[in-house]
Amino acid sequence: MQVSERIGRIEYAIRDVQLLANKLIEKGHDVIQFNIGDPIKFDFEVPDVMQNALIKYKSDGYYSESIGDKFVRDKIANYERNKQGIDINSSDIIYFQGVSEGIFFTFFSFLNPGDRILVPGPSYPAYKSVGEAADAEVVAYRCIEEEDWIPDVDDIRSKLTNKTKIVVLINPNNPTGAVYSERILREIRDLVGETDAVIMSDEIYDQLVFEGNYKSFSSIAADVPAVIFNGFSKIFLAPGWRAAYGFKLDNHDKLENVWEGVKKLCRIRLSPNTPISKAAVMGLTKDPPHLFDVKRKLKERRDLVIKRLNEIDRITTTTPKAAFYIFPKLNLDATKWKNDKEFVLEFLNEKKTLLVHGSGFGREFGQDHFRLVYLAPPQIINTGLQRLKEFYI
Ligand code: PLP
Repeated sequence: MQVSERIGRIEYAIRDVQLLANKLIEKGHDVIQFNIGDPIKFDFEVPDVMQNALIKYKSDGYYSESIGDKFVRDKIANYERNKQGIDINSSDIIYFQGVSEGIFFTFFSFLNPGDRILVPGPSYPAYKSVGEAADAEVVAYRCIEEEDWIPDVDDIRSKLTNKTKIVVLINPNNPTGAVYSERILREIRDLVGETDAVIMSDEIYDQLVFEGNYKSFSSIAADVPAVIFNGFSKIFLAPGWRAAYGFKLDNHDKLENVWEGVKKLCRIRLSPNTPISKAAVMGLTKDPPHLFDVKRKLKERRDLVIKRLNEIDRITTTTPKAAFYIFPKLNLDATKWKNDKEFVLEFLNEKKTLLVHGSGFGREFGQDHFRLVYLAPPQIINTGLQRLKEFYI
C-alpha cells in the first residue's frame, strides 16, 4: 500500500537527519548531537516543583475534560494574566499535548484546501509540514539576516492575498534566535488587521531571552484576532511531558467557529494526560526560579559557540538573542559541496557530529546555513566545533 500523497510530500528535517545519526550510533559511534532542542538530553532537569506535583497527582488516572481540566486552564490563565497583563480566562484556553498538537488542531480547523498561510523564512518546520498536510499553500516570508533575522514587513505585504488565512510568527524564533521589537509586531499587526487573516504567534521561548525586552503579541494584539501558543517543553524543560496550551484573542468574535472546531478535535482525542497536565501547571509562576541558572548557562554556551564559529573562515553568524539555537551562514564552496544538506551529511559521516541543514527550515531563506542547538555543556561544544573547524577547511 502506498502512503497518501499528502504525507508522501512532507518532510521534517530535524528528525529526518536523526535517523541517519542513529545508524552510526547503532554501529558504535559516539555522535555529538547538535540537532534537537531537548534540554533533558543534556545537563538540565524538569523543575522540582513539577516533579513533586507529578507524585501528588499520580493517581488521577481519569479522563480529564477534552480541552484540559478547568483547574489546569485556570492556572494557565492566571499565569498569562500576570506575565502579559492581558485579560483572559480559562474559557479562552485549550490545553494541548505539545504545541505541535496545537498546530495540527488549529490548522485543520482553520484551513480549507488552497488557503494560504504565511510562515517565517527560515521557520520551525512543523508549520510548513502541517500546513501542507492540511492541503494549504504554505508561503515563506523573508526574515532579514543582516538585521538579526527580523521579519521583512514589505515581503509579508506582498504575499498577503484574499486567500491568506493565517500569518505565523515565531517569537523568539527557532531556528534564528531572533526577538522581534514592539515596532515590528505593531507593523505586522496593522498590516494583517487590514485583511481577514489571523495571527498565530508561537511564543514557546518567551522567557529565554538574554538581551533586550520581550513583547508578546498578546500584549499588542488589540482588535486583530490571534492565537498564542506556549508550553512546557522549553521554559519548563519538560519536552517529554508533552504539555502546552493555546489561547485566542478575539475582541470581535471572529474566531468563535474555528475555535469550536479545535475543541471538536480535542473531543476526538478524548483527553490530555491528566496527571501530567495537573503537575505541569504547578510550575507556572512569573519569573520561575529555575530560569536564572538556565539562562546563565545558555548565554555562556551561546557566547562560546560564537567564539568558536568565529575561528572558522567562511562561516558568518548573527548573535541570537534568545532560545538555544544559532543559524550561521556557510558561504559554501560550490566545488566541494552541492548544498547545505550535502555538507551536513558529509560532516556527520566524517566527523560524527550532527547539525541540521538550513534548507530543512525552508529552502528559499534557509539554504546555505545550518542550525546548531547549543544546549550541550562547554566541553561537548568545544569538541563539536573543533571537528567543524577541521572539516571545513
Ligand atoms: N514551536 C517551536 C517554535 C519549537 O521550536 C518547537 C520545538 O522545538 C515546538 C513548537 C514544539 O513544541 P512542543 O514540544 O510543545 O510540541
